[in-house]
Amino acid sequence: MNSTDIRLDITKIPKSRIDAVDFENLQFGKQHADHMMYCDFIDGEWQTPKIVPYGPMQFEPSAKVFHYGQAVFEGMKAFKDEEDKVWLFRPEQNFQRINKSSKRMAIPEFPESHFFASLEALLKLDKDWVRKGGGNSLYIRPFVIATESGVSASESDRYRFMIITCPAQAYYSKPIKVIFAQDYSRAADGGVGFAKAAGNYGAQFYPTKLAKEKGLDQIIWTDASSHEYLEEAGTMNIFFRVGDKLFTAPTNDRILDGVTRKSIIQLAKDKNVEVVVDKVSVKQIVEAAKSGELKEIFGTGTAAAIVRVEGFEHDDVYYDLPDIEEPYGTFFKKNLQDIQYNRVEDTHGWTRQVI
Ligand SMILES: *Cc1c(COP(=O)(O)O)cnc(C)c1O
Repeated sequence: MNSTDIRLDITKIPKSRIDAVDFENLQFGKQHADHMMYCDFIDGEWQTPKIVPYGPMQFEPSAKVFHYGQAVFEGMKAFKDEEDKVWLFRPEQNFQRINKSSKRMAIPEFPESHFFASLEALLKLDKDWVRKGGGNSLYIRPFVIATESGVSASESDRYRFMIITCPAQAYYSKPIKVIFAQDYSRAADGGVGFAKAAGNYGAQFYPTKLAKEKGLDQIIWTDASSHEYLEEAGTMNIFFRVGDKLFTAPTNDRILDGVTRKSIIQLAKDKNVEVVVDKVSVKQIVEAAKSGELKEIFGTGTAAAIVRVEGFEHDDVYYDLPDIEEPYGTFFKKNLQDIQYNRVEDTHGWTRQVI
């Protein structure tokens, strides 16, 4: 990677805003580090990436992103170890995935050298915003939007690639209650479910609001044609532990190929826990819940690593999951975070030092 050969235009903030931030009381995604990156695609080419103080930007009201939703994003994190070194976790996966998402949305792919050169420069400028200890991190949000003006329904010829960051606290993610989808769907065959396309998330808010009115936190999406197979949680992939085996659906064009998911599958294999990557039927899980064989359900994603599911609803029946000793979810979360914070040897070559 020749990320050092790339020219960047850097405008530093006159005075850091960091002293005004209460790092003990962060709300996820609400605070932003001093700088951000943006890079425009004009006349068929990505221009010089710019790093500037975080702040509002101007767009034409007719910019295509506002009308046709041509937008994709990523989510990744930087971690600081006890010696103040800053690490990224499998960042090439996020880079490849944003281009895979872009391709599906007819957005031009972003060059690898631009991505890593500007991300590293941004992290170096804002390294004090990556706090060490506990589960603190700096959440990184790369995204691309269509910026050509004009309300005609066609692909844009201008885009803006951006990276913003948010300090994130070690937070205790409370267990969630879920419902297996029976009416609404998140994704369909041949659609954009596998892409981190903005519209996939907007479309989930209404059914999720209905679930919340029933006292549930999230929806586990099922296949759109039969609602018989469990797919994912919409911002997290999902694992089921039946007996001592873990089950998770194979990725396809309806399911996002999560970095956390694939890392947990590998860590489970390392520990000789059997992982069955195959269609998981609602019937199988309901029966396992009834017989007491269903030990755990957990979601996996960058934001919270692993979130425990405490119960689920299906066909108007709520099933409580048992409170078991030494859950896999807790074990693999620690295992994963030990690697991310450089507390144990990274035998898979997943982490990448930036500072
Ligand atoms: C981002 C995301 C995930 C989790 O992916 P990670 O790479 O583990 O963060 C799962 N499902 C959907 C729909 C997502 O957008």
